[in-house]
Amino acid sequence: MSITYSIIAPIYNEFENIPALWQRVSQVMDSTGENWELILVDDGSSDGSTERIRELAAGEPRVRPVIFARNFGHQIAVTAGLDYARGKAIVVIDADLQDPPEVILELAEKWKEGYEVVYAVRSEREGESWFKLFTASMFYRLIYRITDVKIPLDTGDFRLIDRKVVDVMNSMRERHRFLRGMSAWIGFKQVGVEYKRAARVAGVTKYPFKKMLRLALNAITGFSYFPLQVATYFGFIAAGLAILAIPVVTVLRLVGSHFFEGQTTTLISVLFLGGVQLISLGILGEYIGRIYDEVKGRPLYVVSEAPDSMGGE
Ligand code: UDP
Ligand code: MG
Repeated sequence: MSITYSIIAPIYNEFENIPALWQRVSQVMDSTGENWELILVDDGSSDGSTERIRELAAGEPRVRPVIFARNFGHQIAVTAGLDYARGKAIVVIDADLQDPPEVILELAEKWKEGYEVVYAVRSEREGESWFKLFTASMFYRLIYRITDVKIPLDTGDFRLIDRKVVDVMNSMRERHRFLRGMSAWIGFKQVGVEYKRAARVAGVTKYPFKKMLRLALNAITGFSYFPLQVATYFGFIAAGLAILAIPVVTVLRLVGSHFFEGQTTTLISVLFLGGVQLISLGILGEYIGRIYDEVKGRPLYVVSEAPDSMGGE
């Protein structure tokens, strides 16, 4: 039996959302008349989601659970889903139903027209705090400006990806993952479909500011050297200023001015340059830490239960 659609939903404490997720996804997917599977990746839930996933899978062969040994984070959970997906088209969706499953049909239309990546663009977002909206908007624009691949604005992981692209993604085993960037980097024919992002059905966000910041850092370091170059720019600016300052101060001294005397100027410049140097070291550290993580070569995730067959087998 060949499977056309694989739907991947990462789940971290979404106990209340699982029944509605199943109900809406199965309704939408049944209407396609194609074979499909739903891969539920349990990312170390502790609220009973795991049992609920098992119960669902027990009576429903189309549900394939991948259960992590602990919380590995959203991007890794989706990665595991991509590894196990067997479909010709793979859809990544949030388990909290913020991405309406009905939109999958629109994504599938574009896929049938020949696009290999169909990403859903958030034209509106419901029920989110101004802080979340503001930081998310800043995040997308910053990434767009400083990274080398053009990652579409206001686009999350909700998308349909063709098997060809997923096979390439699965071969990219970098551990600090930013999947949207990876799928943009791979190329192929890509197109966006607008949708209205709904409010969460139940529960609270699992993406607090700290996790968003980490994702932003992964996106930036994974796709740009810009932060490393900033140190060089600062160096040139500081050295340039010093070269300009030397003759100015010499002339002022010769004409008997006391303008540049005393501790204050020295202290300010030492603190300023010290600060710039420490920040540059920190930036270097971000990259080196990531290199270290890659070198260790640990598996991306550890599963306690998973289906027998992986995708592409
Ligand atoms: N999620 C996950 N692991 C995590 C954090 C989140 O699997 O460590 C899942 C979560 O259950 C949801 C999806 O990722 O299905 C998106 O998370 P969330 O809705 O909390 O993010 P937001 O929509 O608020 O950005
Ligand atoms: Mg959400």
